[in-house]
Amino acid sequence: MTQSSPVIWWVRRDLRLADNPVLHAAVSSGRPVIAVFICDSVVENLGAAPKWRLGLGLEAFAQRLEDIGSRLIFRKGDALTVLRDLVAQTGATSVWWGRQYDPDQIARDKDVKAALADTGCDARSYAGHVLFEPWQVQTGQGKFYQVYSPFWRAVKDMDVAARQPAPKSLRKPERWPESDRLADWTFGRGMNRGADVVLPYLHIGEDAAQARLAQFIERNVGQYKDLRDMLDRDVCSGLSENLTYGEISPVAIWHAGQHALDAGKPGAEHFLKELVWREFAYHLVYHTPHIISRNWREGWDSFAWQDAGDDVLRWKQGRTGIDVVDAAMRELYVTGRMHNRARMLVASYLTKHMLTHWRVGQDWFAECLVDWDPAANAMGWQWVAGSGPDAAPYFRIFNPDTQAEKFDPAAHYRKAWLAELSESPPQSAMSFFDACPRSWGLSPRDARPAPIVALADGRKRALAAYENKNKS
Ligand code: FAD
Repeated sequence: MTQSSPVIWWVRRDLRLADNPVLHAAVSSGRPVIAVFICDSVVENLGAAPKWRLGLGLEAFAQRLEDIGSRLIFRKGDALTVLRDLVAQTGATSVWWGRQYDPDQIARDKDVKAALADTGCDARSYAGHVLFEPWQVQTGQGKFYQVYSPFWRAVKDMDVAARQPAPKSLRKPERWPESDRLADWTFGRGMNRGADVVLPYLHIGEDAAQARLAQFIERNVGQYKDLRDMLDRDVCSGLSENLTYGEISPVAIWHAGQHALDAGKPGAEHFLKELVWREFAYHLVYHTPHIISRNWREGWDSFAWQDAGDDVLRWKQGRTGIDVVDAAMRELYVTGRMHNRARMLVASYLTKHMLTHWRVGQDWFAECLVDWDPAANAMGWQWVAGSGPDAAPYFRIFNPDTQAEKFDPAAHYRKAWLAELSESPPQSAMSFFDACPRSWGLSPRDARPAPIVALADGRKRALAAYENKNKS
């Protein structure tokens, strides 16, 4: 390996210059750096909103690299084939990337690493997507954690990597390899009319993410513990959108949270705990990859899920007849996001009152969320359904009306998203009708439907189904 042979940096979900261990290593090597993003089957298979949002993140990141005199190369195809081509074309002797932990990406990356190493290429992966590598955190018996609270106690005092500044420039290769045009990939094609509506709600790129963190720490972290569950208050960080594409690193967030904690801001520890839920999700995905696609608890395989047929479409459209559930489903469609408590409520109504398999909801979120994360989404759905780790007991079935009274007492949230509740609805609620498919035939003047399942009946039915599962 010579000082002039480039390092290929395979960019994935790490669209940032600061706190990026791969990039830091590449810059420290003193060698030219060629950043490449590959549109392979993992990327092709993303849902409409995450794919569109990824495209926007890539556009911003390519500009960021240009601003420091570098480039982002775009290529399409099987990752190994593309990387081999690039190695041959550029004379690179190293291919480095940031690790991902979901089963599809692990399988792909293992094959790529082995195949490149076979040809003498220095193929390496680096940390960066999580604070703690999943294999670093172990119980006293050397096992992985299956319950969140002991996981938190195990990690809260562990060392977290120091922050690394963004490099001011990257050494250029003698010749740049050819690149596709990102715009030709049309990552937004699945969004249809929704793209224009969702766009104003996004915070794209590394600068936006850093600004969001700074603003959250300055204004909201102090009240985070008390108000984070309030649907009608905007006190959460919103950083999941940036974390999922690596526009900010969990390390930067952790240190900002610790700093706030040291400064005596009361909600800071709670914020760090929430960040560690994300870690826990990745810990579980790594150690029990079936959490993505199958019941985490095997006992759940006999549960009698029902085919809700057309009612699932009503759930997606925000027409279940339960105001807070419908408001939340509209918020999802209009913003690409949903408040955490609302995620729990819509998931509970689908899986418990409607007895619909959690995978149906998981798939819809994967289609609509701009902060879609394979680990947090799978864990969230299984946690609510009861089939997952550390789940709430099945008999604890959320009553969405009671929850709405508690967390949206003046109905501000419900009215903000559900046009049918007001004579003159706000723009936020009206924009759902600009975003949703015309074929749904919905109008803000439609009468509110009767509930798909009345709350008391649904609760009774769900408990009976749960009893039967235990008998079988
Ligand atoms: P904050 O409250 O500001 O929290 C800071 C960070 O901590 C978040 O950005 C996130 O990275 C992490 N975090 C907070 N709560 C959780 C949690 N319950 N689980 C895991 N990490 C958490 N989160 C996603 O990022 N992507 C998903 O696809 C996703 N799907 C979910 C599906 C369901 C059914 C449920 C119940 C939860 C899901 N979550 C998901 C978790 C949570 O709702 C979001 O992380 C949170 O709403 C993001 O908003 P925020 O960034 O303002 O969070």
